[in-house]
This record gives sequence, structure tokens and C-alpha cells, in this order.
Amino acid sequence: MKTVLITGASRGIGAAMARTFAANGCRTVITCRNSEADLLSIKEEIETSYNVPCMAHVCDMGDFKQVEQLFTQLPPVDILINNAGISYFGLLSEMSVADWRRMMDTNLNACFYTCKLAIPSMVAKKEGRILNISSVWGNCGSSMETAYSAAKGGVNAFTKALAKELAPSNIQVNALAPGLIDTAMNHCLSAEDIEALKTEIPADRLGSPEEVALLAWQVVNAPAYMTGQIIGIDGGWF
Ligand code: NDP
Repeated sequence: MKTVLITGASRGIGAAMARTFAANGCRTVITCRNSEADLLSIKEEIETSYNVPCMAHVCDMGDFKQVEQLFTQLPPVDILINNAGISYFGLLSEMSVADWRRMMDTNLNACFYTCKLAIPSMVAKKEGRILNISSVWGNCGSSMETAYSAAKGGVNAFTKALAKELAPSNIQVNALAPGLIDTAMNHCLSAEDIEALKTEIPADRLGSPEEVALLAWQVVNAPAYMTGQIIGIDGGWF
């Protein structure tokens, strides 16, 4: 049984991926930073619906000490999905240094922390899969989301570089770049904002977390020769 670690899985895309990987027979490790009750309810749902073990841990993935402590409690991770993320909307000049650091810690540094700790056992087995959840804004940048775009652009470069470093060890590293997905992350947008954005999206709708989860499963199970790719899922937006 493969072990998958999915960070940020108390709701949204992370929870959908946890269900999909569990439904396909994986031992699932899920984390979140604050929403412990939601995380525990996903754990219970997974264990009763899919009959696989699910470990739930509250852990701030942007804090290396907490991530190190988490890994002491885990079996070797076969599949690592760096999904935990936060958004920030506002003018860059008005962003506090603390908010900038939290953005980088959560969306970029966390990928380093988990990879640093997961890679040694993957290298020993000469097998492993790493999938980072990036964003379309990591490719093209978004006004009012400069920090988020910078963090996700960093995730893309991190993905491509690490893929080269790990390909000789048969470890594949890829990223997904979702467009507008219907999760709590976008609940700050008004109905008018959503309608305006939909007019820009050829598919004329938001994507669902389940669609991202299905693609995550397919990419993790893609032929080993596919590595270092940033794969879009955005309804034709970009
Ligand atoms: P949600 O806000 O719905 O969920 C985010 C998850 O990440 C929650 O489980 C949250 O848990 C967790 N999380 C946040 N910070 C931390 C932290 N420091 N440590 C551990 N867990 C944390 O977001 P989505 O599901 O929409 O987003 C998932 C990923 O997809 C993110 O990386 C996001 O950037 C990316 N993405 C989303 C898009 C969208 O349109 N929704 C588009 C493109 C990319 P808690 O609340 O407990 O902190």
C-alpha cells in the first residue's frame, strides 16, 4: 500500500485529493494548520468510506520545526503532494512584511521542507512521486496578487529544477497550475466578480476540486518519463 502525504487537506482541493487517493487504495496522511475538526471529519469519512488508514495531523507546513516533528510520526512517504496554500489580495506596497513572509513560508518554503524530509527514503527506494499544486498566476502573474504569483512562480522553478535533480533516482516531480477552482479560497470574491471572471474563461465556469483531484491522480500515475512539467487545468483560460 502506497503512502500519500497531502498537505492542506481539511477542505477544497486537498480534501478532494485525499478522497481520490484513498478511493484508489492509498494510505493517506492529511494535514492542516487550523481547521482540526474539519480535518478529523475527513479522516473519519476516508476510513469508513474507503477502508484505508488515514492519519490526520495539525501542522503548520510553513514552520520547519513542526514539519520535522510531523515526519518523525510518518511511515516513508511514497507520494508527496504539496497543496497547502494561502492567498493574499491587495496592493503590494500595502502588504506587510509579516504577510509577505507568511505567504512565502506557506506556499513556497513548505515545499522545500517536505521535500527535504521525504526525498531520502524515496532515493533509497529509487522510487517516488512529488506533485506541487501551483497556480496559473505562477506562470503569468496577477495584479493585486504579486506575492502569491511570486510564490507560485517559485514553486514552478522549484519543480523544474528538482525534477532534474531527482530524475536519475527515478523520482518524478511535477506541478499542477489550476485556474479558478470552486473552493473557500475564492469565497472572498463577490458574485459579480465571479461572473466577470467566468466571461474570461472559455469553459464558462469554475473548475471543481474533484477535477483537480482526478488530474493529480493521473499525473502521479503517469509514465515515469513525464517529469518537470507544469500542467494547466484552467478551462482554457491561459
Ligand atoms: P482552501 O483555502 O480551500 O484550502 C487550503 C488548505 O490549506 C486548507 O486545508 C488549509 O487548512 C491549508 N493550509 C493553509 N495554510 C496552511 C499551513 N501553513 N499549514 C498547513 N495547512 C495549511 O484552498 P484551495 O483548496 O483552493 O487551495 C489548495 C491549493 O490550490 C493552494 O495551494 C492554492 O494556492 C492552489 N490553487 C487554488 C486555486 C483556486 O482557485 N481555488 C487556483 C490555483 C491554485 P487551515 O485552514 O487549517 O490552515
